[in-house]
Amino acid sequence: MENSTSLIDFLQTPRNIVITTHQKPDGDAMGSSLALYNYLQPLGHNVRVISPTEYPTYFSYLPGCEEMYNYLENPSLSQIAIEAAELIFCLDFNDLSRIEPLNEYILKNNTAKLVLVDHHLHPKINAEWVMHNIKACSTCELIYQLLLLLNSNYAPTKEVAECIYTGILTDTGSFSNGATNKNALLITAHLLDCGLNIIYVQEQLNQNGREEKLRFLGNALYRNMIIREDIGIGIIVVDKKDAYRFNLQTGDTEGLVNYPLTIKNVKVAILIKQEPKIIKLSFRSKGEYSVERICRENFEGGGHRNASGGRSFLTLEQTIDKIIDLFQKEENKITL
Ligand code: 5GP
Ligand code: MN
Repeated sequence: MENSTSLIDFLQTPRNIVITTHQKPDGDAMGSSLALYNYLQPLGHNVRVISPTEYPTYFSYLPGCEEMYNYLENPSLSQIAIEAAELIFCLDFNDLSRIEPLNEYILKNNTAKLVLVDHHLHPKINAEWVMHNIKACSTCELIYQLLLLLNSNYAPTKEVAECIYTGILTDTGSFSNGATNKNALLITAHLLDCGLNIIYVQEQLNQNGREEKLRFLGNALYRNMIIREDIGIGIIVVDKKDAYRFNLQTGDTEGLVNYPLTIKNVKVAILIKQEPKIIKLSFRSKGEYSVERICRENFEGGGHRNASGGRSFLTLEQTIDKIIDLFQKEENKITL
């Protein structure tokens, strides 16, 4: 980070601080925001974490989660906090459209200074201080480094350790996907020394679920998966009816997109999810093939080479057709 001493100086005085992250925050978004919250709040700053939307209830074990605002539930208090903010941290997103409608209020506050901490490709946010590295396994890795930059003697508390580990664990697909790097393991080793309880996090994240969610998974894989090994893709469709039938909650489709990749000749997996106003798309790929480019060029989205997202304003059927069409044309680029 350039100019880090000026950020350190700025934080010498107690400040009004807002920490925000992308819509429907995942483990890294939640973990990085709450790690920073648990670091800054005890130093005497007035800190509020604001999510633009609801977040999965299975993250409620994260320390400080109960203090977070969901903008959709708390619009007035969120706006007041943003208006009063002297410093706004933007964590785990690369484009202000990812925090709609909070982006509007942030742009209105023209005295607040912005800090961007992120690991997605092509950041488009103008910030005073930037910590950006696409090689970072997670934004949590960068937050860990930021805390050490702010205080070179810093040893994470148990609370901060739980938050950082959650982001590293979820963004690396439990230390298995392409985002997994040496830092993921080194930082985790250090967090263990700081009191991290891995079993506790595992129990909270993966052994604390609902029967409906598991039934939903079985149904989605059995009935709603299209496998096209001939063009190297697998698609899973989640429509409104299934969302209703299985009482789907925010976060229940997390990880679902990865299943088609378990098939040998499937190089790209796509989750098509019908939401009230739009169709949300999740893309994952194996190897060199970039789904980031596909999302950026066709679906107003982006992310990482092997994990990206976007949206479609077509119908469900038209979206499926558009994707199949696209990959019929891309076939020679997905090396089978
Ligand atoms: P997911 O498929 O898990 O929602 O997202 C995969 C990755 O792509 C995440 O890193 C996420 O931040 C990014 N991403 C998801 N949706 C969008 C989008 O609509 N726009 C952009 N720029 N990135 C997205
Ligand atoms: Mn992330």
